[in-house]
Amino acid sequence: MGWQELRDFASDPLVTIGGHTKSHVSLAKLSEEEARAEIAERVRGLEDGLGQTCRHFSFPYGDPGSAGSREFAIARDLGLKTAVTTAKGLVPDGSELNFHSIPRLSLNGDFQDPNCFHALLSGVPFALFNLAKKALPRGSRAA
Ligand SMILES: [Zn+2]
Repeated sequence: MGWQELRDFASDPLVTIGGHTKSHVSLAKLSEEEARAEIAERVRGLEDGLGQTCRHFSFPYGDPGSAGSREFAIARDLGLKTAVTTAKGLVPDGSELNFHSIPRLSLNGDFQDPNCFHALLSGVPFALFNLAKKALPRGSRAA
C-alpha cells in the first residue's frame, strides 16, 4: 500500500494504525538508545506518512525475551498510549493493567480453527491457566 491508500484506510474511525519498530528487531537485545530510536523513528515515520498522531505500538516478537520492563517504559516515555506484547492471556482489570504491556491474541495461524479461536477469545483457557498458576507453589511453576 502507498501512503495515500494508508491515509484513506487510517481515516476510517474503526481503523487504528500503530508502530512496530523501524527494522523489526528484538528490542531487548539492543541498547536502550537503539531500542528507543527503533520505536521513535517508526512512530515519527508513521505520523509523517499518515498525517495523524500515532499512539499505539506492537512489540516485534513480543515475547519476554524481546520486550520487557525497559521496553515498556520506553514506549510510555515516548508518549504512546498503548503497546501490545504477544503474551497470551486476558487483559487484567483495574490497577493490574499496564497499558504498555498488554497481552494479545495473535491471528497468526496457530488458532485458525474457528472452535479453538472462539474458545480463546472467550478468555476461559487463560482464566483456567491463571487459576492453576496461582494454585501451584512458587517453586513448581514452569518458567
Ligand atoms: Zn512483526
